[in-house]
Amino acid sequence: MAMSGEDRRRGRKGEDNGSLGLSRARSRLLQDLACEEGTPIFVIDHEKIRQNYREFRALLPSVQVYYAVKANSDPGIVRTLFELGCSFDVASLPEFRIVYENIRDMPDKERQDWIWDKIIYANTIKPIETLEILDCYKPLVTFDNAEELKKIRAHAPNAGLVLRLRVPNTGSMVELSSKFGADPGEAVDLIAEAFDRGLVVEGLSFHVGSQCTNFENYFQALQLAANIIDETLTRTGKEIKILDIGGGFPVKYHPRVKSLRTLTRKLDAEIKRLFPPDMQILAEPGRYLVANSCTLVAKIIGKAFRDGKPSYYINDGIYHTFSGQIFDHCNYPVMAFAEGEKQVSAVFGPTCDAFDTITLSALLPDLEIGDLVYAENIGAYSIASSTYFNGFPPAKVVHINR
Ligand SMILES: *Cc1c(COP(=O)(O)O)cnc(C)c1O
Repeated sequence: MAMSGEDRRRGRKGEDNGSLGLSRARSRLLQDLACEEGTPIFVIDHEKIRQNYREFRALLPSVQVYYAVKANSDPGIVRTLFELGCSFDVASLPEFRIVYENIRDMPDKERQDWIWDKIIYANTIKPIETLEILDCYKPLVTFDNAEELKKIRAHAPNAGLVLRLRVPNTGSMVELSSKFGADPGEAVDLIAEAFDRGLVVEGLSFHVGSQCTNFENYFQALQLAANIIDETLTRTGKEIKILDIGGGFPVKYHPRVKSLRTLTRKLDAEIKRLFPPDMQILAEPGRYLVANSCTLVAKIIGKAFRDGKPSYYINDGIYHTFSGQIFDHCNYPVMAFAEGEKQVSAVFGPTCDAFDTITLSALLPDLEIGDLVYAENIGAYSIASSTYFNGFPPAKVVHINR
């Protein structure tokens, strides 16, 4: 594969993450927290989450926001978003419980009535045991195949259904269409079958793939959904009233990613063009609400000179907060608080596994054992997939709430 000019520059100089650096106050705060709490710490900035939520709502005012809990299931995040009026997308019974238990005692209307206005169970594949436990809550659940319909009929007959469509995921950082979604050609058959079985299909959903940078995916998906809603009405006489446009809203990890505003302007126009005004539109942003709200602070626990460059061993790595580098195909540049002339350096995690390599090309000043490093924009699909491998626990979560 040919190297782009940028790759070449990176190869020579190491990674330049484009960050403007931390403010002095922010740098002080993170280092003080590391001093008080020990390391590694995963710092969640709740004001950032509030800003993200408000920005999303302002850009798509007619869309009800269901935060996708799998991006980061920290209970504090759930509470902060609930206070702002957010709803939740859960994909497992434990995620359901994290949401339910954290919003249960918060002031609002009677929970039994509104719980499914606040939660959608958006995993199309559900264990029978889970269906049985959820049935009493009259859950809103997604499905994408006939076997799942039979299961829902038998074990959660009180559920409301949302059919997940398979839509193009081209150009998204994480694709989902190989695992989920009914082919548009069989969608109306599945909807008709659900009604025949005495179930109620209330909506359609799709997911264009996570960190979607090809906005055409959304517009094609909307058109597919509109066609299926029309055909459903013609064939079964049933009206679909919910459209769930999923997640995928991209984060500006990199300046080249187009801003959300570019997407939402057209999205809003297309929704108005294709659907009646009383259609309930939901979205399930995960990454967008949390990615830039979290910072990891870790400590250098070892230093060596390997393969011609300084190599630092830190107390967090690929099996922990940096797991997103594998599962999420994301990159979190490692930065130093200390200043000094930068050189290309390797950074490794703490486990006894060479796979635990965070980067071979960080640009870092000369650092010593005991110095602190940090990684920004590490809030989504990071600590959520952290393990206890080799006995090293996940980073300690610290909340900033100002
Ligand atoms: C993962 C997921 C989301 C969140 O996706 P993001 O790209 O993080 O916004 C939303 N809905 C479903 C069904 C998901 O699986």
